[in-house]
Amino acid sequence: MAPRKISKGSTEASDLPINLLPVSMTQTQLPFLPFARPDIGEPEISAVVECLRSGWLTTGPRTKEFERRFADVVQPGAHALAVNSATAGLHLALEAVGVSPGDEVIVPDYTFTASAEVVRYLGAEPVFVDVDHSTLNVTVDRLEAAVTSRTKVIMPVHFAGLACDMDSILAMAQRRGLAVVDDAAHALPSTFRGRMIGSFATDASVFSFYANKTLSTGEGGMVVTSRSDVATRCGIMRLHGISRDAFARYVSTTPAWQYEVVAPGFKYNLTDIASALGLVQLERVFEMAKRRAEIAEQFLAEFADLPLLLPARALPGDIHSWHLFVARLTDDAPLSRDAFIDQMYARGVGCSVHFIPLHHHPYWRDTFALTPEMFPNSERGYRGAVSLPIYSGMTAEDVERVIEAVRGILDA
Ligand SMILES: *Cc1c(COP(=O)(O)O)cnc(C)c1O
Repeated sequence: MAPRKISKGSTEASDLPINLLPVSMTQTQLPFLPFARPDIGEPEISAVVECLRSGWLTTGPRTKEFERRFADVVQPGAHALAVNSATAGLHLALEAVGVSPGDEVIVPDYTFTASAEVVRYLGAEPVFVDVDHSTLNVTVDRLEAAVTSRTKVIMPVHFAGLACDMDSILAMAQRRGLAVVDDAAHALPSTFRGRMIGSFATDASVFSFYANKTLSTGEGGMVVTSRSDVATRCGIMRLHGISRDAFARYVSTTPAWQYEVVAPGFKYNLTDIASALGLVQLERVFEMAKRRAEIAEQFLAEFADLPLLLPARALPGDIHSWHLFVARLTDDAPLSRDAFIDQMYARGVGCSVHFIPLHHHPYWRDTFALTPEMFPNSERGYRGAVSLPIYSGMTAEDVERVIEAVRGILDA
């Protein structure tokens, strides 16, 4: 293959966090194409510089504005509370709905450990369910089958940005008197039957702004809720259990130094530096999603004849955020998933795996006696899963390079 000009967008491997690092050096002269890369332009950089010059770095006016605009995008009139990660947001949401020791929270086995770890923060027990084979999402039937008299919350995860069936899940939860807190880390700006994730009658929906998510502030997250009691509790608990935040202290008519601690809270507030970044990213969120969707459609068309199970599309008219493009090697593929990823790296293309199911991890496996037989779809999904590079900053050449690499390996 003749070397060709590649966009200057590619990242040095050494700049990447540990989970994005290539496992072997590239054998090509082309710069390494990472599996994920934040789409940060000059407007984001200027916004951050302006924040730095403003003299206000921590939670303040930019965060307030980010929260207001975020609510306007997903559900006008809802409460949006910025936090320093989705993990923090999920913890706050579960705390606010009253999860405590003895309670059970139903989570998918096929997710990131954060979804389940927050349940343990509160001394409660996660109950793991298998996912649907084709969507890798939880289904209402499996969720309902896992409900016991101790179940307090259901936590659907919109895997890769494909929305779960929120209508049936919410109907079941309501019938059973259960709270729903959705892990929407992948789901901006996903929709289900024309409504944005974050606009459903959940007790809270929690988004992530981690570096590889569809909107990034480096680290960050947002809790969206229509319940004012949940919003009030999350607002207090995200900042030490103090009943007003740093900014309010300076605009309020009560003395600036005055506050009350009403609970042993956490330190989960988002900085204005991050919010400055988030405000610009939010303006671009649909445009960035459009680019991801174009790339996904190109992959779906180009890979249709390969031994790959391709990711499910959203329902007609709905938005899939395409946070991830997870293709699965089928049993008739000429090589294993691990060998495939090695060969992609050898071609200078980064890949990842989403997810290593929770039942594979020693802590979850041993603490809750989890076995592969309990999660056949999750197990099968994991065995073939490869997350291919997909991000809004990919050039046409970057996309072509991924296609050539995948076809070169599988179309032999
Ligand atoms: C990224 C992610 C999280 C955690 O997000 P942070 O903002 O990094 O805390 C939670 N759940 C899922 C499914 C994720 O992919």
